[in-house]
Amino acid sequence: NKTVPSDIEIAQRAAMQPIADIGNRIGLHEDDLELYGKYKAKIGFNAINRIKTSQEGKLILVTSINPTPAGEGKSTVTVGLGDALKKLGKKTMIAMREPSLGPVMGVKGGATGGGYAQVLPMEDINLHFTGDIHAITSANNALAALIDNHIHQGNELNIDPRRIIWKRVMDINDRALRNIVIGLGGPVQGVPREDGFDITVASEIMAVLCLAADLDDLKRRLSLIVVGYNYDKEPVTVGELRVEGALTLLLKDALKPNLVQTIEHTPALVHGGPFANIAHGCNSVMATKTALKLADYVVTEAGFGADLGAEKFLNIKGRAIEKNPDAVVIVATIRALKMHGGQEKKNLTVENTQALEEGLGNLKKHIETIQSFNLPFVVAINRFHTDTADEIELLSNWCNMHQIPYGLTEVWGKGSDGGKDLALEVLKAIESIHSFTPLYSLTDSLKEKMNKIAVNVYGAKEVAFTSKAEKQIQQFEKFGWGSLPVCMAKTQYSLSDDASLLGRPEDFTIQIRELIPKLGAGFIVALTGSVMTMPGLPKEPAALNMDVSKDGKAEGLF
Ligand code: ADP
Repeated sequence: NKTVPSDIEIAQRAAMQPIADIGNRIGLHEDDLELYGKYKAKIGFNAINRIKTSQEGKLILVTSINPTPAGEGKSTVTVGLGDALKKLGKKTMIAMREPSLGPVMGVKGGATGGGYAQVLPMEDINLHFTGDIHAITSANNALAALIDNHIHQGNELNIDPRRIIWKRVMDINDRALRNIVIGLGGPVQGVPREDGFDITVASEIMAVLCLAADLDDLKRRLSLIVVGYNYDKEPVTVGELRVEGALTLLLKDALKPNLVQTIEHTPALVHGGPFANIAHGCNSVMATKTALKLADYVVTEAGFGADLGAEKFLNIKGRAIEKNPDAVVIVATIRALKMHGGQEKKNLTVENTQALEEGLGNLKKHIETIQSFNLPFVVAINRFHTDTADEIELLSNWCNMHQIPYGLTEVWGKGSDGGKDLALEVLKAIESIHSFTPLYSLTDSLKEKMNKIAVNVYGAKEVAFTSKAEKQIQQFEKFGWGSLPVCMAKTQYSLSDDASLLGRPEDFTIQIRELIPKLGAGFIVALTGSVMTMPGLPKEPAALNMDVSKDGKAEGLF
């Protein structure tokens, strides 16, 4: 629809209020905020300590079906639901992740919501924001440099250069850096070895920052990071390198949550941005906890489908914040469901009730997953103007027939007014009686955990392990790491580990290729299928549309 302005046009036209005023309305004084210009601020540690004993609000987790490449509007619905709750008179805050430059420059675009449900200033948030991701990149690469220097200067810790698992990072999709050789050029240039880059948002430092409860916990977690193994094949940690203090110093401001506002001036904390496919996919513990203390209702989002972000929220982040959501929102779009039902990507705007009906299996699986955790939920149908009346009727009838609570949302086009139905359904869900049932216990073996995730959440028949993974499991259990949760790395497009299997695939096997210990984050990453921790850019990257106007305004961010 050509008459609809773009996300960036809507964002640039919106009038923001000074962030000090936004903070003031949720009980934060001038001294509590560290201003980054007029519209962004970090919340200082003093304020966070002061509110520690306040009562916690209700937590609403927004997740979705398996997405199409453009995303399903999870961030949009998160923001719109927050605005709608505020409009109903509820003291509400939003806690979401900050975007990575990888998708911004690459295929997906930004992550500040869309249409009339956005957080502002969208250009800043999508670009460098308050510099947190740069700080994470610097801390990560400082550690890489310190490891190589340690080896060059005599290698007191006996680190085996062939067994270093700490990689360098940058926050751009750069396939050319996935595998590199460093230290070439003779003795003064260091010790040659194979290395590689991951994207910053998949790094352990990002996970550590997002899971840390405070500065002390940040330092403790950093010291636990395993950087590789010595010649006796024993793990070597940051603590042994004695650099956790320096890394904490580089991250001390990045740890403070960032306060911004939505188009409708709802306070939002945008902080931390791990991907949900190759990392744990949730915004920071610091931000979620702070929001829970400041507001009665907190809307938060976890990346991609419920098979990834929500599973990790419930098994990893929930344990860190010692709280489970009071309700879950599962975002679905008719266009994505049609794609799951076999409609080709280029025809998603064409009516096809048969494809829609067939694609409902994907939504059904995610609903069953949330039900298996025994959490109340609401399906949010994020309406696109291309959805036809017949398609909407089919989906509503299906929800009614299966007694699935749902809300049709039009927050993208109408802001809070388009989210009222959803907000009322969510408030109803919160009131229902439920008791969270965990998927696995930490005392389950690593294999049992992976098996439970694959079978119960993905719907797989079984899990297969490469011989490398088998060997690693034995080693990790020997090192005492068997009681950690597992963070699965899997494609976001399918419930399986094969991106081309849409809908609700059955009878498939999840292949565990390799494990990576992340002791600072406190989980073991399991790489499935052919998933990669450094994405590549597509043929037509979003970067091709970007520019800056003569007066310095961002253009074409989407
Ligand atoms: P996700 O969080 O699921 O990745 P986003 O909320 O970032 O998805 O939305 C992805 C893109 O889709 C954004 O550019 C947004 O403006 C657009 N979008 C979301 N909902 C709608 C809608 N109902 N109609 C049209 N475009 C939408």
